[in-house]
Amino acid sequence: MINVTKTFLPPFEEYAAVLKRAWNKGWITNNGELVQELEEKLKEYLGIEYLLFCSNGTIVLQMALKALGITKEVITTPFSYVATTNVILWENCTPVFVDIEPTTFCIDANKIEASITEQTQAILATHVYGFPCNIEKIQSIASKYNLKVIYDAAHAFGSIYQNQSLLSFGDVSTCSFHATKIFHTVEGGAIICKTKELFDKLYLYRQFGHIYDDYLSVGINAKNSELHAAMGLSILPKMRDIINKRKNHFLTYSEQLKSKFSNFLQEKNFTYNYSYFPVLFKDEEQLLQVKINLEKHKIYTRRYFYPSLNRLPYLNQTNCSVSEDISSRVLCLPLFYDLSEESILFISKQILKTIQPESISN
Ligand SMILES: *Cc1c(COP(=O)(O)O)cnc(C)c1O
Repeated sequence: MINVTKTFLPPFEEYAAVLKRAWNKGWITNNGELVQELEEKLKEYLGIEYLLFCSNGTIVLQMALKALGITKEVITTPFSYVATTNVILWENCTPVFVDIEPTTFCIDANKIEASITEQTQAILATHVYGFPCNIEKIQSIASKYNLKVIYDAAHAFGSIYQNQSLLSFGDVSTCSFHATKIFHTVEGGAIICKTKELFDKLYLYRQFGHIYDDYLSVGINAKNSELHAAMGLSILPKMRDIINKRKNHFLTYSEQLKSKFSNFLQEKNFTYNYSYFPVLFKDEEQLLQVKINLEKHKIYTRRYFYPSLNRLPYLNQTNCSVSEDISSRVLCLPLFYDLSEESILFISKQILKTIQPESISN
């Protein structure tokens, strides 16, 4: 069986050796030594000043909206994981969907201005598959209308844009370290911001809003444990190897399937983390044919992202024709560290057997 992702696990002894430090101290949560060390190493790896390691990639989005004082309309993308929309609703704000670009699948910055109202307070956009949004345009709109920018950078760990981590843009960026993501801590996430003031606020939010007996603000429990930090500390030194392996897999798929994504990836000032290999088919029927055929061989792909979030049944229905079209015919293929070249060739061959290569449009 081949799944769409497979969690990268370090050798058990390496993980155990790091974890032993927590055992020896008898301290396993509440901002322990390993959590603090992971934060320092992440800041160094990412070239970032303010970062907090938290319990997952969803709660950090909630914290971002709350810390920035967002209570009304949030312009957002319909092409993301459901968490991106749900956090807006959870915080009692209103999501306003703006359609996506057909090339990057990120929010179409040229369509944002038309959706701004008196109530708009923020833009929450996703760097889809680790590709950068139109950061310059989004920033210029945000400055013009005095909006906050939050990036859901759950996919963007290891992607480099303008010689900086893709996690370093926006007023706040968030990341997920879930076991399915390129860098993981089993469950986990991070929130990145630019000012000490915001950092202090988020620091308090993470631990119920108090420091010992001083109760200073509202808060939530977004702390993560020494067991999770130990996983991160064991994997972080291997990131170069992990990204290189994935890059090779990605290029093999590209060559076999004549994917044009690789052209896009050669864009100046961008280095991809190779976190996903999406394939855009001619239509949904063809996607389903491919998916079902691969399943016969016990190969499991994922419709990622599907459905387009503007079509969630608990929302007022709006149209986003590009996102609806893309989500109906995009499929992510298996991509993980120890996927064999033989498997990639087999998967590609099966896809080409089902369809004509011309009908892959990315
Ligand atoms: C994975 C993911 C999340 C949620 O992260 P968790 O750590 O699972 O809570 C949010 N947004 C996007 C785009 C994701 O891919």
